[in-house]
Amino acid sequence: MSLHIPFDNSYATLPSGFFSRLDPTPVKDAQMLAWNEKLAAELGIEGTDPTVFAGSRVPDGAAPLAQLYAGHQFGSYNPQLGDGRAILLGEVVDTHGERRDIQLKGSGPTPYSRMGDGRAWLGPVLREYVVSEAMHALGIPTTRALAAVATGEPVYREQGALPGAVLTRVASSHLRVGTFQIFAHRGQIDELRTLADYAIARHHPDADGPMGLLSAVCAAQAELVAGWMSVGFIHGVMNTDNCTISGETIDYGPCAFMDAFHEGRVFSSIDQMGRYAFGNQPRIAVWNMAQLATALIQLFDDKDQAVKDATAIVHAMPQQLEDAWLHRFGAKLGLADVTADDQPLIEDLLNLMQADGADFTNTFAALHTDAARDQFTDRDAFDTWAQRWSQRGPAVDLMQRTNPRIIPRNHRIETMIEAAVSGDMVPFERLMSALATPYDVHSDFDDLRRPPTQAEIVPATFCGT
Ligand code: AMP
Ligand code: MG
Repeated sequence: MSLHIPFDNSYATLPSGFFSRLDPTPVKDAQMLAWNEKLAAELGIEGTDPTVFAGSRVPDGAAPLAQLYAGHQFGSYNPQLGDGRAILLGEVVDTHGERRDIQLKGSGPTPYSRMGDGRAWLGPVLREYVVSEAMHALGIPTTRALAAVATGEPVYREQGALPGAVLTRVASSHLRVGTFQIFAHRGQIDELRTLADYAIARHHPDADGPMGLLSAVCAAQAELVAGWMSVGFIHGVMNTDNCTISGETIDYGPCAFMDAFHEGRVFSSIDQMGRYAFGNQPRIAVWNMAQLATALIQLFDDKDQAVKDATAIVHAMPQQLEDAWLHRFGAKLGLADVTADDQPLIEDLLNLMQADGADFTNTFAALHTDAARDQFTDRDAFDTWAQRWSQRGPAVDLMQRTNPRIIPRNHRIETMIEAAVSGDMVPFERLMSALATPYDVHSDFDDLRRPPTQAEIVPATFCGT
């Protein structure tokens, strides 16, 4: 099959301590399950070939490598992580002039695999495909999905033997807070400086030195997390190795969009303390930026001054988060001129929603209609709130642009995966079409907007690796 990828690799030219060069591990029988035609065109890719996206054939111009990084996982520092089941094929400069990574995930073991098999099974591959593309359609920065390929090989997990798959992930880069941490913790200051220069050039070219980089990443992460909150998204595993320098969402493991609203909602089966609960995400984003600050401080001779400067930048982030949150939720209520005075109005609605277990997406999507009160059991309380709100003169068109009608609901993802495992990709295709235009009214997909019944509720999501 003919395939041309216009590779233009930069990471592979960094010092050898940044990565290990190795090829993906070939698989038995590569079958294309999903191919993102539009994204391929944007990347300048011509043709396709399942064997390449399964890792069985290395395409011309690729410089395959596994990246090195570390990170705090649930608050504890792990000094050595790295791509344990991912391989960066290389980079392309897309039709907008942006540099993008093309990475295979589930493509076999690497020197960083530890006890892992380097593989992924179909479930998490399709979950990431659907949820990352939905996130993009919602207008929130994210890595993308280019391809999902079945390997024809089993993968062994707790549930038993499962069908193996490889995801091709596209990212504006895979630089993480953890990439900085590994060099800082090891005292490799030259490498740390090279990395900071590389990150500035690639993502934040206007940033003035490492402190400028820190400010830019804080701003990008504040916007990102406010974006997640505005659509009821719970990332689930906001470890510093899953926190990008670009400000894109990365690592769709145990993530989920909420159905019934609750600030304390947790999905991830491995998050027993609720560290990454919905309402905790802003605080964790700040905590992660404090770790980036700690790493970048190592670049300065005058440590006292650097600590002062970095502290001021990180301490400004809660206000940035609050502003971004206010802007997002103000728009959801149709308030283009939202001010801090509107905060109680927004919070009172969320409190009513939480008390009544109202569906997050459907409540906001219906707010400008008479159907809104059906989401509440205490309708008098809602009516009183709605009275206050209407006095602010909400703009319906703004609400329609900012309140998605459809999100990838967990129970739908689960049934889509079950179907795919038995060879039926129709539910996947249908989810993908519905989620491509989340702000539109499409009655064909009304069933996908329905919250789960008691029996359909998915209690937890798994790292699913
Ligand atoms: P993640 O939960 O995907 O962020 O992964 C955390 C770390 O574990 C990363 O270093 C991964 O590369 C590694 N990892 C996860 N699953 C596997 C696997 N099946 N084989 C090897 N390494 C893995
Ligand atoms: Mg990760």
